[in-house]
Amino acid sequence: VAEVRGLTKRFGDRTVLDGLELTVGRGEFVALLGRSGSGKSTLLRVLAGLDDDVDGRAEVTGTVSVAFQQPRLLPWRKVWRNVVLGLRQDGVAKSRNRALAEKALTEVHLAEHADDWPLTLSGGEAQRVSLARALVREPDLLLLDEPFGALDALTRISMHGLVQDLWRRHRPGVLLVTHDVDEALRLADRVLVLDGGRIVAAHRPREADDHDNLRRRVLADLGVT
Ligand code: ATP
Ligand code: MG
Repeated sequence: VAEVRGLTKRFGDRTVLDGLELTVGRGEFVALLGRSGSGKSTLLRVLAGLDDDVDGRAEVTGTVSVAFQQPRLLPWRKVWRNVVLGLRQDGVAKSRNRALAEKALTEVHLAEHADDWPLTLSGGEAQRVSLARALVREPDLLLLDEPFGALDALTRISMHGLVQDLWRRHRPGVLLVTHDVDEALRLADRVLVLDGGRIVAAHRPREADDHDNLRRRVLADLGVT
């Protein structure tokens, strides 16, 4: 569902992505690790079609949903209206919005906050609204930029389960950006490491039998010793 060839992104004289190659297959779950500032969010913005000032190719087929690192909820719309923001462009009848929003909010354990204003939510709650907004469209490609970063450990585990469940049911391609090596190894078919503007390592955790060893190798790829 996503194919990136020779993607180069510069900000002024700084090259953030440097001839990057990446494929996310239909129904494939890919995790992307990389140090802070390595260009992960930049890559997601390009894939989401929010930045086309690049060299190279980034092609995506079908519907794309993004859950951003910062939730970006519209403060003047109630939570449930934020969830269904993207549905209009998908041609979904307005009359179905409330029901679809409630279903998505229930999945992220926020049903009782449907009629709240975004500014009254905690950081983790806002992140989950953003996740609900991404899931409600049943996208072909789901781009997740550290969607669990602001969550407590228990909620995070419950969200892992949720994302995995939805992935099994709808089989979107997923590109999950995370700082959490264990999260990446637990959830993804393929774990990629971004460094110097390119993918420098790729691992397949489902095929690995020695997880501790794989974890050490990924940490070494990240330059953590
Ligand atoms: P983090 O893990 O901290 O979220 P990241 O890998 O997502 O980091 P990006 O947000 O993609 O990193 O940023 C990569 C680099 O590009 C950073 O050095 C950042 O300062 C720079 N950058 C991003 N957006 C812009 C912009 N609009 N103008 C100038 N520089 C930018
Ligand atoms: Mg980022």
